[in-house]
Amino acid sequence: MNVVIMGPPGVGKGTQSWRILSDLGLVHISTGDMLRIAIRSGSDLGLKVKSVMAEGDLVLDALVMEMIRDRFKQPDAAGGWLLDGFPRTLVQADGMNKMLTEVGQTIDVVLALDVPDDEIVRRLTGRYTCRKCNAITSREQLNEDNPTKCANCGQDALYQRGDDREETIRRRLQVFRDRTWPCTDRLGESFPLHRINGLGTPDEVAQRIASVLE
Ligand code: AMP
Repeated sequence: MNVVIMGPPGVGKGTQSWRILSDLGLVHISTGDMLRIAIRSGSDLGLKVKSVMAEGDLVLDALVMEMIRDRFKQPDAAGGWLLDGFPRTLVQADGMNKMLTEVGQTIDVVLALDVPDDEIVRRLTGRYTCRKCNAITSREQLNEDNPTKCANCGQDALYQRGDDREETIRRRLQVFRDRTWPCTDRLGESFPLHRINGLGTPDEVAQRIASVLE
């Protein structure tokens, strides 16, 4: 099964993606994770995208399309994937449609999660990510004795992403509403699109998603 999950930063995409991946055994293709790895490794791509990402702007379509094209060519991408963070622009959405036709694949379901902007700011300013395993947690769930310890992998590696500051979050949200949200309608023209209410506990949202994926 090939799934695309879309939604503003902080809607709970990361948390829900983890559940879908383990439930359905899909490969996780996250352009945000791929770009952060590129930055950490100091590659040419990483150097090109570092400041753009720190500002909360979108990386150039051509760079992301090339990265995704390479990823789709890897053997594990043939057996079902969850695409997270892509497409982010209409150019990417149309490019992906073409690319899928080329590799003989399709999208079985597009999940579009949404919550109001103020809730997103509240959530993201308290969000922590694990540098080792990419698990996500909130300020309230941090280990009191060791706030940087990840509950998922046990490593001392939790940190707050540089682009999770309020000013940057507002900027990312504006970019999202202007440029990315229109992609949901565009994908909906060719593939089954389901809009999911992202308010409530992670379990409640997971339940809504599960009823769509059944
Ligand atoms: P994410 O982890 O999906 O929130 O992505 C973090 C940042 O990576 C975004 O704010 C963008 O700067 C960049 N990024 C991730 N995916 C894309 C994409 N498909 N197109 C352009 N920029 C992207």
